[in-house]
Amino acid sequence: MKTVATLGSHCALQLLKGAKDEGFNTLIVTERRREGLYRRFSFIDQFLGVERFSEVVDEAKLRFLEEADSILIPHGTLISQVGVDLVEERLRVPIFGNRWILRWEADRNLKDRLMRRAGLEPPRSFASPDEIDRLCIVKLPGAEGGRGYFLASNPKEFHETFDALVKRGLIDPKLKSQVYIQEYAVGVPIYFQYFYSPLDDRLDLLGIDRRYETTVDSIGRIPARYQVDIDPTYIVVGNIPLVLRESLLEDVFEMGESFVKASKDLVQPGIIGPFCIEGVYDERGVFIPFEFSARIVAGTNLFISGSPYSALLYDESMSMGRRIAVEIKRASESNDLSKILT
Ligand code: AMP
Repeated sequence: MKTVATLGSHCALQLLKGAKDEGFNTLIVTERRREGLYRRFSFIDQFLGVERFSEVVDEAKLRFLEEADSILIPHGTLISQVGVDLVEERLRVPIFGNRWILRWEADRNLKDRLMRRAGLEPPRSFASPDEIDRLCIVKLPGAEGGRGYFLASNPKEFHETFDALVKRGLIDPKLKSQVYIQEYAVGVPIYFQYFYSPLDDRLDLLGIDRRYETTVDSIGRIPARYQVDIDPTYIVVGNIPLVLRESLLEDVFEMGESFVKASKDLVQPGIIGPFCIEGVYDERGVFIPFEFSARIVAGTNLFISGSPYSALLYDESMSMGRRIAVEIKRASESNDLSKILT
């Protein structure tokens, strides 16, 4: 029996619950300080304790994972805490999905290229703070849930706000040369949770959410006269479920299919399993994409017992985690694991 393994953070509970529902053995790589949390859940069979997640590429830990016959499911914490270099070069356990596409998510230039190839035109980006001539959002590197993002509409504001956030401990000053500056798209944020099955060459939309971000989502709660002194920040603290106007859905599928095609053109063997396209609908009702995630996103945690969209496709509760397990099970039964693992 194969073991489904993941790092203990992000969406680990959902992933391992889904794997257990499909009959897999389950394993969590957990920081020792969090082990108590994960011991509360009976669907987790094995524990691999670490001080920090980057230890997962140490020889003894790799051997433990191999002896359990593990398939590792990547998520945002693997990218932010282990990093794409180690995932490509040293993490020799099989990964569900395309391990090379994680770099295309983490590297802004590659990300831009893949989005454009998919016909997803991102907002304009600015190479240097000195070029800022309109409202922009400034992003820091790494998949860390909007941490340290801020707004600036000219170079002076950029430097002032950057320094203020450093003082408040929200930004590491060393990151100043690595920021990504993108035109701010005014609209309502929406995140589309897709699953692409290479076994069936089929794209599912399994859920839609928006993020709940502090402090930007708190500003409407206070009178306007107090709002002027607050610099909004974009740290994700949770996710809220959404359904889309049905008339907009066709475009959502087309966007997802274009992304699948572009990923096959640029990053063989293309996207496998979960991914997410992220953006806003503006005042014209036009979707402006600004990001993608090339793996499961934490917003799928909303739908452990299924979403309005998964209910249209499956007769049983189908979370993203469970859908991954179904794909592994089917590939295993038909001897097609090489189509879904890298
Ligand atoms: P991200 O981590 O890039 O998905 O972005 C975190 C949050 O920043 C999003 O949920 C949005 O609230 C906001 N955001 C990111 N990029 C843009 C943009 N170009 N325009 C407007 N809001 C954005």
